[in-house]
Amino acid sequence: MQKIASVRLCIILGSFLVALFLLQENKANFKTASVENSQYDSSRVLVRYKNQASIFGKSNLINILNKKQRTVISSETILPQLDLWHLSPDVSSKELAESLSKHPLIQYAEPDYIVYTMGGEKKKKQDTTIPLPAEDNVSGPDPKLTNSYGLLKIEAPKAWEIHRGTSEVIIAIIDSGIDYRHDDLSTNLWYNTGEVGSYEDDKNKTHNRQTDGIDNDGNGYIDDVIGWDFRNNDGKPYDDNDHGTHVAGIAGAIGDNSLGSSGVTKDVRLMILKFIHSDGSGKVSDAIKAISYAIKNGAKVLSNSWGGASFSQSLQEAIVLTAENNMLFVAAAGNGGDDSKGDNIDKEPVYPAAFDLSNIISVAATNRSDKLEFFSNYGSTNVDFAAPGADIFSTLPNNKYGNFSGTSMATPYVAGAAALLLGFNSNLTTLEIKQALMDSVDPLAGLKNKTVTGGRLNVYKAIQVLQSNKILLGKEE
Ligand code: CA
Ligand code: CA
Repeated sequence: MQKIASVRLCIILGSFLVALFLLQENKANFKTASVENSQYDSSRVLVRYKNQASIFGKSNLINILNKKQRTVISSETILPQLDLWHLSPDVSSKELAESLSKHPLIQYAEPDYIVYTMGGEKKKKQDTTIPLPAEDNVSGPDPKLTNSYGLLKIEAPKAWEIHRGTSEVIIAIIDSGIDYRHDDLSTNLWYNTGEVGSYEDDKNKTHNRQTDGIDNDGNGYIDDVIGWDFRNNDGKPYDDNDHGTHVAGIAGAIGDNSLGSSGVTKDVRLMILKFIHSDGSGKVSDAIKAISYAIKNGAKVLSNSWGGASFSQSLQEAIVLTAENNMLFVAAAGNGGDDSKGDNIDKEPVYPAAFDLSNIISVAATNRSDKLEFFSNYGSTNVDFAAPGADIFSTLPNNKYGNFSGTSMATPYVAGAAALLLGFNSNLTTLEIKQALMDSVDPLAGLKNKTVTGGRLNVYKAIQVLQSNKILLGKEE
C-alpha cells in the first residue's frame, strides 16, 4: 500500500515538474554559443538526469513531450542517469537539448556531437567471419621490425629484454574496428570467455557460443566474441576504414611470429570497440557506449585516436568513470585545423584530449628527425608528451601493411607502452603508470613549452623508473 502511494506521489510530482518545465519551455527561446558551428547528429540527444530522478519521472517526461508532439521515438540508458533519446525527424535536437537543460529533473542535455579520427584512412569490405581463438605463434623475429623507426626511438627492443608483454592485459581499441582476420593481430585479440566454446542442448545437439545468436554471458550483447560494433550494433567490429587496424598494430601486433613488425607490446589482448564509421566520423553517444563496455569487460588501457572541438559533458563523465575503475585513457592531441598545421589546444581545445582529468594522457606526434611534426597539435597544459606519429608502419586490412601519419598513430604507441608496464607489474595503478611514463620521456628541444613534460615517450626508461622505484614495485618480476 505504502509503495503504491509513493509511486503515485512520484507520478504527481513528475507531472508537476513537467508542467513547470513546459511553462518555461514556452517562454524560453535561448541559444548556447558553444553549440553554434558544431556538428552533431540531429536525430539524437543525450539527457543526463539529476541523481534523484526516478524512472517514473523520466517516463512521464517523455510521455508529456510526446503528447504535445511526437518527439521521442525511443530512449536507452548508456550510463547511470544518462539516456540517449532517439528523436522524431521533425524535432530540432539542438533546441530540445537547450530547453531540456532547464528542466528540474535534468542536470544537462546536449546534442550528440560528431568526432573524427586523427590520421590516415581508407575503406574496403571483406570476409568478416570471426576466427576461433588460437595460441600465439612464436616462431622467430619479425622481418619488418626495422620499418618501425618509432620502436627504436622509444627503445622498445631494450624494454623487451626486460618484459615482452602478456595476454593478461587488455587494451580497448576504441576506433573504426580491426581486421580481426589479420595474421599479425588475430592471436593478440581479446576473446570474451562467456561467448566462446561449445555446449550441448537438451537434445544433445552441439552449439558454438560464437555463432549461436544467444547472449550466452548475459551482458546484453549477442555473440560479442571479440568486442562490439556500436555503429552498426552487431558483434562483428570489422574495420571498414583502415584506421583502427593500423592503430591496433602499433599498440599490439604480434611479436616474434616471423611476420611483419611488432606492436609496442608483443603480447596483449586487444578488445575491438568500433564506433567510427567508414568515413572516419563517429558519434559521442556511441563512444560512451564503447567506454562503458570497456569498463564492464576488464580493459585497463583505452586507446582513443579520435576527437572533436565540441565539449561534451557526458563524454567527460564517461571518462571519469574510467578513472574510478583504475583505467588509463590515452587520447590523441589532434592534427591542426583546416590548414592541417598544428594548433595549441590550450587555446583551441580538442576533446577528449583536453579534458582536465587525471587518468588522461594526451599525445602529440614527432617524426624521424625528433621534431614535433608540422600537423601535430600541442599545448603546455593539455598535451602530456609526444610519441612517434609521422610515417608510421603498421598493419592494414587483408594481411597488408602500410604507413600512416597522425597523432592517431602516436596514441597507440603510448597505449602499448602503458600495457607493457602493466604487464611488467600488474599492481601498478593508472596514476603510477602515467607518472612513470611522464618521468621517463626523452627531452626534445622542439617539445619544450609545447607539452607538459617537453619530451617523447621512452618505454625502456619507463620500465627502468619502475625498477629503480621500490615504492612502485609491489611485486618483482
Ligand atoms: Ca554477450
Ligand atoms: Ca609480427
